Amino acid sequence: MLDQITDSIFFIVSRSFDSNITYIKSGNHEVLVDTGTGLYTSSLDKDLQTQGSSIDVITDVVLTHSHIDHIGGVIPLLEKGSPKLYLHKAEADPINNGDMSHTLGDTFGVDLPPFKIDVVLEEGDIIDFGDVRLQVFHTPGHSAGSIVMEVEDSGILFTGDTMFPGGSFGRVDFPTGSPKKLVESLRRISEMEFEIALPGHMNAIKYNARRSALMSYQMAKNWFE
Ligand SMILES: [Zn+2]
Repeated sequence: MLDQITDSIFFIVSRSFDSNITYIKSGNHEVLVDTGTGLYTSSLDKDLQTQGSSIDVITDVVLTHSHIDHIGGVIPLLEKGSPKLYLHKAEADPINNGDMSHTLGDTFGVDLPPFKIDVVLEEGDIIDFGDVRLQVFHTPGHSAGSIVMEVEDSGILFTGDTMFPGGSFGRVDFPTGSPKKLVESLRRISEMEFEIALPGHMNAIKYNARRSALMSYQMAKNWFE
């Protein structure tokens, strides 16, 4: 089910243990933020078709991190087209060297073949899709290369698996996870200015998301320190 957030941003709440997926239509760019496991790509295709798009025409795929429930859907997309893939350096470098181990495919019983990341992201990068521009913040903790992204001039923050609604936050017990780094990343997020949060799982936070981020920070700090 597509949930329209702005004229050009549509949030698709996850199916089963898939990640949430966001579709962004900006000029000639047909963008997805995260892709799910790939097990439900035909449902995603139907959702996209309601907006005159489809999985065949996706031009760019921005990944908040490389866990299988976010990245697995890249495979069916690459079979249909040739979208540019974006991922933070800490997780893009191993993948570009053929190491898929930290994607956790084994954990979820999904066999992920190797592929290449086209755009290696770093802190401060701006991903420019014309009307929609995403600013990248490196927020490790859930995984080494987790990012959050601010949609410029919109009050919207993509929070990946770093911050969830209701004061919750991502697990830190996977390889490359770090409780200390997660607390620091949540502190950073809690100091950012935003109204809407689009997380990697659970529902969108549509009002006062910054307050929710502050709660996540305080909960994580109490839990881990
Ligand atoms: Zn994850």
